[in-house]
Amino acid sequence: MNDRGVLYFDHNAATPVAPEAVAAMIAALGQCYGNPSSVHTLGQAAKSVVTRARGEVALLVGASQSEIVFTSGATEANHLAVLGALAMQPHKRHLVMSAVEHPSLISLARQLRQRDIATSWIPVDAAGRIDTDQVLRALRPDTALISVMWANNETGVISPVADIAAVARSSRVPFHCDATQAAGRVPIDFAGSGIDLLSLSAHKLHGPKGVGALCVRKGIGLPPLINGHQERGRRGGTENVPGIAGFGAAARVASGRVMADASRIESLRDALEAALRQRFSEATINGCGANRLPNTTNVRFATLDAEMVLSRLNRVGVCASSGSACTATATEPSHVLLAMGQTREQALAAVRLSLGRTTIPTHIDRLLDALTEVLRPARERAA
Ligand code: PMP
Repeated sequence: MNDRGVLYFDHNAATPVAPEAVAAMIAALGQCYGNPSSVHTLGQAAKSVVTRARGEVALLVGASQSEIVFTSGATEANHLAVLGALAMQPHKRHLVMSAVEHPSLISLARQLRQRDIATSWIPVDAAGRIDTDQVLRALRPDTALISVMWANNETGVISPVADIAAVARSSRVPFHCDATQAAGRVPIDFAGSGIDLLSLSAHKLHGPKGVGALCVRKGIGLPPLINGHQERGRRGGTENVPGIAGFGAAARVASGRVMADASRIESLRDALEAALRQRFSEATINGCGANRLPNTTNVRFATLDAEMVLSRLNRVGVCASSGSACTATATEPSHVLLAMGQTREQALAAVRLSLGRTTIPTHIDRLLDALTEVLRPARERAA
């Protein structure tokens, strides 16, 4: 519960900012107003804030500091990865991407059609799983990049990242992985992963919005999207020092508790799913049976419209979403659930309940009570 008295079940959209991140941001805003590029004392003080945060983010994902490029978030990191990989290999005009990527990547790939860049979309099965063989089969001599997310933001389904990295390595195709939903929730070892480019976003791991990073494996000469000398020429523009400070502090906190958080949150999530099945015979858990993030439940109640369920939940003090917050205003069904073979009607019924660090057992009980109340009229009609 947060201080507005609401129950928060939307951690895949944004997480509460950790007190340590708030403190780091306030300190950076107050004292570190120098420009990190200035050579004087105040400039260097700001630079040391950025350097420290770079180390903290690198540690969280097992990267080295020099591999971290700070960006305005994962949307920009995703663009930098795809457009950078294409610019790096101008003779290559083909992408391999999973059909369930975040809209920032799907819409970019669609736009690239106008530049004669083709994309092969890797399908998923009914549980949202990607088959690595399909990635291998989609590769062409002119493939510039494989882009497959670590974990899906709507269903929490985890991709076979190590297997895809092995395919990418043996085919000598760079591998980009959007780890926005995974970082801080499951352990990530960039160094040992075989991934070449990894996207991160601070606000999914208890940091502030508007800051993220792309980890760029050493030796990859990725050209910038935004020119300037900052970030060693890989991302121009004066650094968002307070945002980066908050990201670093959030990453430091997450590094110390990722395993403990994951097992605690997973047991709450499993208890929630068991109770959903027991109380609501019409409940179907999307992605069930697949390896999933510990915090995500995507559920539909027969084909009851999710927007109706969510607005009623909101009225009784429960915040949740119908999948990607980026499409929350659209009435279009989720491309992820359609790719899993669901009908339009089924996809429009999906409610995403994403748990987090602040979720405690009584929240689960109260959520179940709220759902019982909200679903009662529809259940009585159906009876
Ligand atoms: N990728 C995934 C998987 C996401 O969940 C999100 C956030 N919804 C993004 C990318 C975009 O991140 P940002 O908000 O930092 O641009």
